[in-house]
Amino acid sequence: KSFDKLGLHENLLKGIYEMNFTKPSKIQERALPLLLANPPRNMIGQSQSGTGKTAAFVLTMLSRVDYDLQAPQALCLLPSRELARQTMDVVEKMGKYTPMKAKYAIKDSVKRGEVIDAHIVIGTPGTVADLIRKRALPLDNIKLLVLDEADNMLSLQGLGDQTLRIKNLVHSDCQIILFSATFPEQVRTFTQRFAPEANEIRL
Ligand code: AMP
Repeated sequence: KSFDKLGLHENLLKGIYEMNFTKPSKIQERALPLLLANPPRNMIGQSQSGTGKTAAFVLTMLSRVDYDLQAPQALCLLPSRELARQTMDVVEKMGKYTPMKAKYAIKDSVKRGEVIDAHIVIGTPGTVADLIRKRALPLDNIKLLVLDEADNMLSLQGLGDQTLRIKNLVHSDCQIILFSATFPEQVRTFTQRFAPEANEIRL
């Protein structure tokens, strides 16, 4: 049981070991082989904070993007700015030895007329929808869409609809990853629309 067996690029392993992670957590061990498999498949993960789920989807984003293409390829949606910022921190640490560029999308973080060319974009659905509307966030190369804390997302008015609208704008073969701590009826209904035909992992 080690990160070396998961097929991760050595530049990612350097970042991981520098964070003092010595072996994958249970969710990482179970989810990463599914998340990194080809052809890509959607995945729904049930796990609480503290299980290491962030690293699972961050490593997937960092593994899937083509660093030679200067365009957004992975889009990660979270229910709050604070969570988006924390996720950005993990991306920067784990991706330290890769040539990745990531953008933390918050209100007014993109100058007028600027078009985001970072590989990874992280933000809340409201700001991301805003950037798409302003043509500042091109979606043509998005191949991975991540939604973390789906249950918290849906507890906030309008965010579920906004998230589904964003999902409907990316290519139909985009890989979708959804994590949620709980799966009440509302979340299950949403999940069927957001991440159809997904592998499911429960911890
Ligand atoms: P999360 O569930 O993503 O909120 O992560 C919870 C905490 O576990 C974070 O502080 C991570 O830095 C830490 N963590 C995640 N994966 C590992 C790992 N494989 N080994 C040690 N710590 C980890």
